[in-house]
Amino acid sequence: MPQNDAHFDQVQFQNSFVEELSGEISTDTRPRQVLGYCYSQVKPTPVREPRLLAWSEELAAFLGLSRPPEQSPAVDALAGNLVTDTMKPFAARYGGHQFGNWAGQLGDGRAISLGELTARDGAAWEIQLKGAGPTPYSRRADGRAVLRSSVREFLCSEAMHALGVPTTRALSLVSTGDLVVRDMFYNGNPQPEPGAIVARVAPTFVRFGNFQLMTAANELDNLRALADYVIRRFYPELGEPSEAVYVRWFEEVCRRTAVMVAHWMSVGFVHGVMNTDNMSILGLTIDYGPYGWLEPYDTTWTPNTTDFSHHRYAFAQQPQVALWNLVQLGRALTPLVPAIESLNQALEHYRTTFTATRQEMMRRKLGLTTITQPEDNALLEDLYQALTTSEMDMTLFFRQLSHVAPALQTGMEDEEPLFIELIDKASYTPDPSAVHDSLLGWLRRYTQRLRQETASGEVIREGMLAANPKYVLRNYLAQQAIEAAEIGDLSKLNRLMQVLKTPFAEQPEHDELAAKRPEWARFKPGSATLSCSS
Ligand code: AMP
Ligand code: MG
Repeated sequence: MPQNDAHFDQVQFQNSFVEELSGEISTDTRPRQVLGYCYSQVKPTPVREPRLLAWSEELAAFLGLSRPPEQSPAVDALAGNLVTDTMKPFAARYGGHQFGNWAGQLGDGRAISLGELTARDGAAWEIQLKGAGPTPYSRRADGRAVLRSSVREFLCSEAMHALGVPTTRALSLVSTGDLVVRDMFYNGNPQPEPGAIVARVAPTFVRFGNFQLMTAANELDNLRALADYVIRRFYPELGEPSEAVYVRWFEEVCRRTAVMVAHWMSVGFVHGVMNTDNMSILGLTIDYGPYGWLEPYDTTWTPNTTDFSHHRYAFAQQPQVALWNLVQLGRALTPLVPAIESLNQALEHYRTTFTATRQEMMRRKLGLTTITQPEDNALLEDLYQALTTSEMDMTLFFRQLSHVAPALQTGMEDEEPLFIELIDKASYTPDPSAVHDSLLGWLRRYTQRLRQETASGEVIREGMLAANPKYVLRNYLAQQAIEAAEIGDLSKLNRLMQVLKTPFAEQPEHDELAAKRPEWARFKPGSATLSCSS
């Protein structure tokens, strides 16, 4: 059980990953190929002047931690300057497919795990410092993270959690007092930027790529040990590892990954870099980099400038890419499961779970009790095209639709003015011109369908409001919070943190954070486009 709200430097860590798997013990942090191990023990490199910028109260309470003073031993520990007796810091060894190509060894190049804390649920939660300095996996990079990308990871992890999306969490954001040089636009213009470290939290940060690398390196003992570790600790309900259990486990990873991606599609989240090293073995959203939120409904959109030519990781691609990634994981597991056919069959779980979960989420978003008739499926399909043509803001559309649903259902009011108002509020193509014909047609069909529902308009509205968030971390809002934080003003960051804790609540005093993206943000770097430089 956790200690009663202690400071981070005073809590006891467990070290199951280090103790149960084989790792190298070396003080050498020079970049290199590491062979034969699941991880390397490596200490964080101290920073100049750690200062706490943000703290997730709710997660901290869950972990039994109290908020430390801005500068304190606890903050030193969250910055990697203080390694306590029970911490056994390590960097994990993994590989992965990047943009479809096998990249060989990648590994934790700037993330260092400290060990695990026992939380209020009695389970162990791993704490990882991102930006904590070089490791054997840093390749040619510095092991650091800039404030800009750390703010984005911190805010989005917690916002996603509040939306009910499976995700890794973020406990703290600490500025380092050091400058980090980055060529943000990859245009030969490197600039010094403030550095930061996020302490992120998850049961484990093991990725598809950990298994892939073991198999690629023909380290079958490590492959099995890692699979057994993950199954025993995180999938104990499946039973003791065996060939049949490996298959059931893979099925479960398929299922969880499907649920995660269905959530992304439901809230308009674009991960941006769905490489297999960025896919959690627990089906959690992991590695927040050049991610973004759909504003105008454009399924071909990706925020990631590195992906502009291929759009491999665009919004609409995500379900297929997740499947492709699962196929790669399945390949990596073949040494454990000679009956390859059973792995192939497990992939079916991805397809069926994704389809069912996506449909269930859309049903709730639209306030329908069932989606049964073929016309209902057509209604869903046609919506996506209509939203695209009308350049509707995804979040605003569903939220506004929730509010007008009762009026549409009763038919007491003329609905056409309601449609026009909805379009006016949520479309980036303001004129009620012919552009909106398909959306208007869709809204009329939807109104007819809604009238077949027997629940009261009020009940429908409440259900829809609980499925359609008012507040998401709009790209330009994150950017504004970053720009303020870079000059020492944390008010925007704090406000976003606060509001995004209850994204389904009305919070009328924060209406402006739920508004349509302003025109100036359309092409502004950081708001509409993001590079991988972080
Ligand atoms: P990402 O695209 O962030 O998932 O990172 C891909 C790989 O590059 C991982 O192995 C990271 O650890 C590594 N990496 C990214 N940025 C840095 C950095 N600043 N220093 C060291 N390694 C990094
Ligand atoms: Mg990564």
